[in-house]
Amino acid sequence: MSGRAGAGLVPFDEALTRYEPVIGLETHVELGTATKMFCGCPAQFGGEPNTFVCPVCLGLPGALPVASRAAIEYTIRIGLALNCTIADWCRFARKNYFYPDMPKNFQISQYDEPLCTDGWLDVTVEPEGGGEPRQVRVGIERVHLEEDTGKSLHIGGATGRIHGADYSLVDYNRAGIPLVEIVTKPVDGTGALAPVVARAYVTELRDLLRALAVSDVRMEEGSLRCDVNTSLSATGSGRWGTRTETKNVNSLRSVERAVRFEIERQAAVLDEGGRVVQETRHFHEDTGATTAGRSKEEAQDYRYFPEPDLVPVAPSREWVEQIRASLPELPAARRARLKAEWGLSDHEFSMIQNAGAVDLVAATVTAGAGPAEARKWWLGELAREANQSGRELADLPITPADVARIAALVAAGALNDKLARQVIEGVLAGEGTPDEVVAGRGLAIVRDEAALTAAVDEAIAANPEVAEKIRAGKVAAAGALVGAVMKATRGQADAGRARELILARLGQS
Ligand SMILES: [Zn+2]
Repeated sequence: MSGRAGAGLVPFDEALTRYEPVIGLETHVELGTATKMFCGCPAQFGGEPNTFVCPVCLGLPGALPVASRAAIEYTIRIGLALNCTIADWCRFARKNYFYPDMPKNFQISQYDEPLCTDGWLDVTVEPEGGGEPRQVRVGIERVHLEEDTGKSLHIGGATGRIHGADYSLVDYNRAGIPLVEIVTKPVDGTGALAPVVARAYVTELRDLLRALAVSDVRMEEGSLRCDVNTSLSATGSGRWGTRTETKNVNSLRSVERAVRFEIERQAAVLDEGGRVVQETRHFHEDTGATTAGRSKEEAQDYRYFPEPDLVPVAPSREWVEQIRASLPELPAARRARLKAEWGLSDHEFSMIQNAGAVDLVAATVTAGAGPAEARKWWLGELAREANQSGRELADLPITPADVARIAALVAAGALNDKLARQVIEGVLAGEGTPDEVVAGRGLAIVRDEAALTAAVDEAIAANPEVAEKIRAGKVAAAGALVGAVMKATRGQADAGRARELILARLGQS
């Protein structure tokens, strides 16, 4: 029985009037260790197919696995950063199932004895349409260690799926790369924020993993993969509904869209008196829809049993404490520190965060700019530019050092804001460094007193009535003459100094 994608959707806001969503996230992270989980093969992305392989990761008879100490250490790092309890004794387990890209016909994983359990990760979300940011604590059920599978390539079909393909190829380079699975507890009570909370959680987790230097966390290359569980319960019923598991959602935006779609779809099923089927679903990037996959296996289908070829993992408390002491500053603590150092409100800081500019502003401040200036340029001119060209701020061809230099030129009075914007334009257009653009375009403020005086005299001569009013004491009229001077100097005059000179010339200083 295929899914009910054609059965219609209930608009999101309406669905939320009758149902309460519960979400859960299972995230797989490929660890950035030098070698694979149970052998010495390089754990690298890409490479000629089937070149990073050996008898162990090919599952050849008689080959025996040995667990990677580095992978266990990375997993403990992740567990500690997620406030988990680290087991003092646990085992690997065999998860039995057949899949062509899994050469042993079982996966070495962890089942009822995961390495890390019972933690949490706090995320902050902003309600749509403004309002106070809300903090949500996402419980972490478990963090366990396993090995990745190989990769099948289906050739000849239109979709890249096995259906319709002429033949399939398999690449075992990825087989045996250490994989950490991070499973949340069910997250309820977030209502209409559920899709945003799901996205914020994956974003925060990605930033955390990056700070821990345990993975390159590239969703587009599959080193961070996300399965999104969604269920609905009738509001006030107190009973959770049947959940679906949307597999391999491969971007942050898609995480949000997948939850949103499942809420709209499941609401339609329930409204019709139907039953939500417990199943895995595929997310389609192009339409934002999910479609039914296989019905979900139960744990007993995998015939888990303790892996007989590996000794138990028993990390000493001393080792765990050493790892804890070596943890870097984590993203939440770093944000709190930067917010205080920069003297910003929650709202001001979250604007920087939402623009994806925290690292850029921090680097600009490190390069010598004041926090207010760094924030002003990245969130103003440069955010506009990024928006218009459909790029991320970090992808603009301007560096934090460039922005700091421009801020310094403004602070020194060599540029005003208008000229600074032209310098930014020049840097973005590839005309060189800020100093090269200033020189190339002739963009310095006119400091030459004689040139400025000449421009002032010209402005007075060209506007005799205005000049007369000022002589008569109407100082406010000077604005018109300052405007004329600015125009004559193509905006490069120091407006304050021009005003002083005008008033002095007309006997008003
Ligand atoms: Zn190997």
